[in-house]
Amino acid sequence: MKLQRNYKFWFCTGSQDLYGDECLKNVAEHSRIIVEQLNKSGVLPFEVVLKPTLITNEVIRKTFNEANIDEDCAGVIVWCHTFSPAKSWILGLQEYRKPLLHLHTQFNEEIPYDTIDMDFMNENQSAHGDREWGHMVTRMGIERKVVVGHWTSQAVQEKIASWMRTAIGIVESSHVRVMRVADNMRNVAVTEGDKVEAQLKFGWEVDAYPVNEIAEAVGAVSESDTNALVDEYYDKYEILLEGRDPEEFKRHVAVQAQIELGFERFLEEKNYQAIVTHFGDLGALKQLPGLAIQRLMEKGYGFGAEGDWKVAAMVRIMKLMSAGMKDAKGTSMLEDYTYNLVPGKEGILQAHMLEICPSISEGPISIKCQPLSMGDREDPARLVFTSKEGTGIATSLIDLGDRFRLLINTVDCKKVEKPMPKLPVATAFWTPQPDFATGCEAWILAGGAHHTAFSYDVTAEQMGDWAAAMGIEAVFIDNNTTIRDFKKDLMLGNVVFGK
Ligand code: MN
Repeated sequence: MKLQRNYKFWFCTGSQDLYGDECLKNVAEHSRIIVEQLNKSGVLPFEVVLKPTLITNEVIRKTFNEANIDEDCAGVIVWCHTFSPAKSWILGLQEYRKPLLHLHTQFNEEIPYDTIDMDFMNENQSAHGDREWGHMVTRMGIERKVVVGHWTSQAVQEKIASWMRTAIGIVESSHVRVMRVADNMRNVAVTEGDKVEAQLKFGWEVDAYPVNEIAEAVGAVSESDTNALVDEYYDKYEILLEGRDPEEFKRHVAVQAQIELGFERFLEEKNYQAIVTHFGDLGALKQLPGLAIQRLMEKGYGFGAEGDWKVAAMVRIMKLMSAGMKDAKGTSMLEDYTYNLVPGKEGILQAHMLEICPSISEGPISIKCQPLSMGDREDPARLVFTSKEGTGIATSLIDLGDRFRLLINTVDCKKVEKPMPKLPVATAFWTPQPDFATGCEAWILAGGAHHTAFSYDVTAEQMGDWAAAMGIEAVFIDNNTTIRDFKKDLMLGNVVFGK
C-alpha cells in the first residue's frame, strides 16, 4: 500500500521593503541557497520549495491560503531574514491551517568582524526579526515548532527532518479511516471512546461493517491466488509443524493467506487504512485473523484488537510518520501481558493473542498453528518472533470522558533472558523508563491502557508535538519522570483540558 504522498514543504522568508532593492535581492538569493543546500543535504525526508519573499499583507495572506489548498504541501517553514513587521502576518496566519515550523537561523554563521557595518546589520537581523514574528504567533496562540541554529548544522537539519515527519502525522491524520468489523469487547472500558469527538479532534473516520461482508470478500479470493501467497509464506518464513500433519498445517496457513488477500482487497476497495477485529465476533471467518493481520500491519495498515479503533488509528499514524526511514526498526500494536519482577531484571512481556507486526522482529520469523484458548474457531496460523533491542515509545490514547489524553512512555527494549519455546506468539520485552516501578505507577495513575501503539522510530517529542497540534493533552513518562512531578502534570492537564 502507498504510505506517502509526494509531500513538499514551503520555505517562506519574511522581510520588508524598508532596506531597498539590493537588500531584498540578497534576501532572496540567501533563501535560494539555503533551500538548495537543505535539499542537497540528504537529511530531509521531503523536498523544500522556495517561495517568493513575503513582504506585504496581501502576499502573505495569499501564500498561506495557497498552502492550505495545495494537497502536496504538508507545511510551511518561516524564517525572517530581516525585520518583518508582524502585523502584516496576522490575516495570513489566521487563515493558515497546516503545520508550521519557525526556522530561527541566520545566513552567515559568524559575525564578519572585519567588514561588519550597519548595512550588514540591517540585512541580517533574524535575531530581532524572528522575535517580532514569534511574538505574534505566540499572541495568536498558534501551535508551531521552533528550530534554532545555523542551517548548515547537521543537528538543525535533523530537527527539521524530524518535524517534517511530525507534520506528515498531522496532515495525514484527517485521512485515516478505520474499518470496524466488530464492536469493542463486551464490558471492556479502555478500548471504548467517543468516535464523533475523535473525528472532531483527529479527523478520523471510524465506520462499522458487518463482519460477514468482509468474510464474503475473503471467500471470493481464488484458490490459485491463495496458493501463490502460501508459497510466498513458505519461502519467507520457517515452518514449525510441532508434530502437526504437514498438509493439515498448510490448510490452516492457507486460511490466513485467503484472509490477507480478502481483507486487503476489501480495505482498498472501500478506502480504509486501518482495521479492528475481535476474536469473539468472527462471523463466517474460519480463524481469528493472525498471520493475515500481521502481514497487513507490516504493509502499513493500522490495527487494533478487540475493536480497539483508537490503537488502530494510532498505529497507522505512527507508520506514516516513520515510513521510508533509513534503518527503521518497526512499529506495531502491542499489549502489556505479563511481568518479570525479578529484582534488577524487571520488565513487561509484550505480546498479543497473535497480532504483532513483524516490522519489529529480529532474527528468524516462524509460522506456528496453535489453539487460541479463546473463542470457538480453528487453530489460527501466526508469525512468531522476538523483537529488537533499543529505545522505543509506547503510546496510549485514552478517552477520559471529557477529553482525550495521550500517554507517551519511553521504554528500553531488551532480549528476554531465555527462549520461551512453548509460547506460540510474537513478543517484545521492555523496561519502562525511568524504571519499572515508577514507569508502571505513572502509567496507571494517568489511566493508560493495556493496548499500545509502539514504535522504535517515532520519538516522544514527535508524538508530543502531534498531540499539541491535535489540541489534546499529552503526558510523558521517561527518565525525567518523578511521581511527585507527574501528579502535578496530571493536575495541570485537568486544569487546562478538563471540562
Ligand atoms: Mn487485547
